[in-house]
Amino acid sequence: MITFESIGLSPAILKAIGELGFDKPTPVQEQTIPHLLENDGDIVALAQTGTGKTAAFGLPILQQTDINLKGVQCIVLCPTRELCLQITRDFEKYSKYQQQLNVVAIYGGDPIEKQMRALRKGAHIVVGTPGRVMDMMRRRALDLSTIRWLVLDEADEMLNMGFKEDLDTILSETPDGRQTLLFSATMPKEISIIAKKYMKDAHEISVGHKNTSTDTVHHVYYAVHASDKYHALKRIADIHPSIYGIIFCRTRKETQEVAAKLMNDGYNADSLHGDLSQAQRDTVMSKFRIKNLQLLVATDVAARGLDVSDLTHVINYTLPDDSEVYVHRSGRTGRAGKKGTSISIINMRESGRIRDFEKKITKQFERRQVPNGAEICEKQLFNLVDKMEKVEVNEQHIESFLPAVYKKLEVLSREDLIKRFVSVEFNRFLTYYKNAPDLNVELSSRGSRDQRDQRDSGDRRKSERRQRTDDNNFSRFFMNKGKKDNLNTARLIGMINDQTKTRDISIGKIEIMDNFSFFEVDASWAERVMNSFTNVNMNGSQVMIEPSQPKDGGGSGSGGGGGRQRSDRGGYNRDSGGDRGGYRGGSSGSGGGYKGRSSGTSRDEGKGYDRDKKKSYSKSSADKAKSNKVRKNKKFHD
Ligand code: AMP
Repeated sequence: MITFESIGLSPAILKAIGELGFDKPTPVQEQTIPHLLENDGDIVALAQTGTGKTAAFGLPILQQTDINLKGVQCIVLCPTRELCLQITRDFEKYSKYQQQLNVVAIYGGDPIEKQMRALRKGAHIVVGTPGRVMDMMRRRALDLSTIRWLVLDEADEMLNMGFKEDLDTILSETPDGRQTLLFSATMPKEISIIAKKYMKDAHEISVGHKNTSTDTVHHVYYAVHASDKYHALKRIADIHPSIYGIIFCRTRKETQEVAAKLMNDGYNADSLHGDLSQAQRDTVMSKFRIKNLQLLVATDVAARGLDVSDLTHVINYTLPDDSEVYVHRSGRTGRAGKKGTSISIINMRESGRIRDFEKKITKQFERRQVPNGAEICEKQLFNLVDKMEKVEVNEQHIESFLPAVYKKLEVLSREDLIKRFVSVEFNRFLTYYKNAPDLNVELSSRGSRDQRDQRDSGDRRKSERRQRTDDNNFSRFFMNKGKKDNLNTARLIGMINDQTKTRDISIGKIEIMDNFSFFEVDASWAERVMNSFTNVNMNGSQVMIEPSQPKDGGGSGSGGGGGRQRSDRGGYNRDSGGDRGGYRGGSSGSGGGYKGRSSGTSRDEGKGYDRDKKKSYSKSSADKAKSNKVRKNKKFHD
């Protein structure tokens, strides 16, 4: 068996990594470390984040760094500030017992003078983002003429982020005799071009196949109506009480909205996106890293460089357009030998995307049913019992209260006592999920294949519209133009396309009357449609649209379909998230979060209780605000 000792690492490094709990090398380390210790040839490694690649290049470089030499000996280039800080922190940990070894991080977004001072003090190793490195070189604050190792980490991301020219410049200004190491999760053509141009007889290392996912990740999807995605998300979180994961959204706006709803509904969640200041992003990321946050809602860009190795789940709230992005997202779980699950919540039209991802990762997804209320309640009940079993009792502090408590409860039998204790929390879930509807939708494989085949064909929308007749997932609009204005179906669809600047919107039923019309669009696009019809003219007069109620059932025969009424959902109060049980504290809770709950200290329980009390105290105004919000949204959903 290959061990860290047998591959020739020094006692100082062995001691440091031993303290970090690294007991055996990962595959990329097995291949990279001996190579770097024994010869000076270049390396191109296909390795994703989470494979242990930082230690793979870091350990042998640190071991061979000569602290007596002046001048920078190694430069590590990486795409983001976060990754730059992460690598620097890792290097500092690995070199804990190599005194006087200096690692300096240089990255954009922080005052350059401070970083220049750090460089002036002497850096053996510099970790930097390409833009800031270039800047430092231009200012003659960084001299790379003495470097022995050049590492390009997450090279594909650096290219994606437009650093190609910077990389070219930096690479051309480093000495020919350097050893170049390139790490990348994917190998697009541009990477091979860089490798050919700047590397010599590079030794190729591959852990896992190109563009495939690791064996430790299980891929799962749930299929629901687009407008039920958020409810499905909540159920998924509820059925996994110990979830620790990233929820990926596509836009900043969506990220903010989903996180705000989750927080409002009592989940321990927060958001990470480009509209936050650097300081805010740092705060959210560090809270997430130390598990004070259980769910992080993030865009792909913002989540880059956030290095957390023990996520239980990655949730694709919106699917990425690019399958490669799916590989990146799902690769954030199942790291360092742990198991993880990548969940996708899809709507009826997206089953084709799952097939695309399956092809890319060469693995099959498992379709799971969105859990129903009873399943969630059962899971939560046993989680509660588990917590109760493991709770640490603070004998000293609780002792003085116990006699009075015993006295008060002495009339209850053992069974009654247990029932009542678990019901304190369990009832909240029970109430919340009472009459909860089935959120799952049928995905006929034929249907989805047909949809794919028809993609981009003129027939597609027509057939989808026909199919949508029974779908309760549409929002209905009134338009003040009709046959008398020469409006017809094609013209109306054209108008929706032009105004919204996309052809992706599913259009439902269209009814064109003499003087006005009705049309339906996928509810998730309703707001975009509404906002895009602000200044449209037809035959010299303004086109106006407004949300419309579906016709009463049976009224028109062709109308909006009585089945689309939300009241069909029974008494399930979808927006009453605050009543749902679950995580205490929300994003602002500092101590009562996820981490604390596992130990179940009375302090944490106390915090949760206080917060709950506060919540019910201010309930009336919150309710008012919520019902306003619901009413506003209802415009689009009813
Ligand atoms: P990386 O791919 O460098 O981002 O590393 C992913 C995670 O795995 C980091 O948290 C490392 O600390 C951890 N790690 C790296 N090498 C090992 C190892 N040999 N044993 C256990 N954990 C490791």
